[in-house]
Amino acid sequence: MTDDDEPTPIDAVRALRTRGVNDPDDLLECGSPAEILAACHRWDRQQNVKPGLLVHWIRNGQFHDPGVVHASKTAVHQARFDEYAQRFPVGSVAEPHDRLQQRRWPEDERCPGRMIVVDHAGLSIVAECDACQFEAAYPVRAMHVLGGPYLREAQPPEEVF
Ligand SMILES: [Zn+2]
Repeated sequence: MTDDDEPTPIDAVRALRTRGVNDPDDLLECGSPAEILAACHRWDRQQNVKPGLLVHWIRNGQFHDPGVVHASKTAVHQARFDEYAQRFPVGSVAEPHDRLQQRRWPEDERCPGRMIVVDHAGLSIVAECDACQFEAAYPVRAMHVLGGPYLREAQPPEEVF
């Protein structure tokens, strides 16, 4: 599979809408487009199910049939976490607080601070804002929201404090 074949968020939204999900954009935080499409295909294989079940699966990270890939899913999550943990060591900038606000609480007054990684706990990256001390955890299934053009502007970890 080449990068060109990677599904985009638009593909995921379209797939969800086709299956009767009303607010597909809300689910983009819960998994990568590929995972969301996997959940859609899992849902397609069921009989007499409602869109609510598909939403439930995606919100809970149950993209794949538990019987089929349960064992490897744990390994996949661990590998994914390790990759992100390496990219976002303790002390590095996860993202600007402002960017997190735009995604989750667009109505809030913008904070100029940055979400600094303070811990790697379980399969989550925990970050705290250096301006307002707001704390957020990025679980492994939501880590795709990290990583993006802002990284080029962020200071290297040793200059953070
Ligand atoms: Zn803040």
